[in-house]
Amino acid sequence: MRNDAVPLALLGGTFDPVHYGHLRLAEDVRRALAVDVALVPARDPPHRDAPAASPADRLAMLQLAVEAFPDLAIDARELARAGKSYTALTLEELRAEAPRRPLALIVGADALLGLPGWHRWRDLFGLAHLIVVERPGTVLATRSMAPHLRAEWEARWRPDPAALRRATAGAIVVQAVAPQPISATAIRAGLRRGALDEIRGLLPPAVMSYIQNHRLYEPPPDAP
Ligand code: ATP
Repeated sequence: MRNDAVPLALLGGTFDPVHYGHLRLAEDVRRALAVDVALVPARDPPHRDAPAASPADRLAMLQLAVEAFPDLAIDARELARAGKSYTALTLEELRAEAPRRPLALIVGADALLGLPGWHRWRDLFGLAHLIVVERPGTVLATRSMAPHLRAEWEARWRPDPAALRRATAGAIVVQAVAPQPISATAIRAGLRRGALDEIRGLLPPAVMSYIQNHRLYEPPPDAP
């Protein structure tokens, strides 16, 4: 049963593949803020190259991953929707389904700094809160922000995470999480090199098996 008093926080991404950086982050946020968390895989991410694995494979890996994290949900609506996977559209759909439920976007510090490049980025604040988490390799400081983003930050940052429950959208809160120096880029590079021992431990064993069984992220057979 959905409880509209509990904010719904979304972690969007390509999940190409999903790894413990995503999963532990989502679980840390869920527990620390007492929110529901859904992982939202993008079909066609607007700001980056097309994912290497297909939507079906990325969804299958997420489904295997959440077996070990049963309190995390998956919202696959962007995989079903044609066209670019704009977060603003996803939030508008969710808002129409739950007009009074607080919604939030979980963004790593790296993603936050890129926010002004997102489609209709200012509209996002009318649709959802932002939960910003630190990410190894990116410093979360207002001096790193573009001026428009810094202005939004200064107007919207709230030290008390209760702000997530006081309104349905519009606040920015920062949540400390255990740092996970893991990236999908590094995992794909390790897989291409065949460095399987470096990769194991960075993602759930069931996801690792799926990657191997489906020969994902391998170089084409005739590659040098
Ligand atoms: P890639 O290396 O392909 O860019 P990624 O590991 O960054 O992939 P994404 O699917 O692009 O994964 O990330 C989705 C979201 O999860 C982003 O908001 C990103 O900042 C966040 N994120 C991913 N990995 C981590 C991590 N290790 N720590 C904190 N946030 C993370």
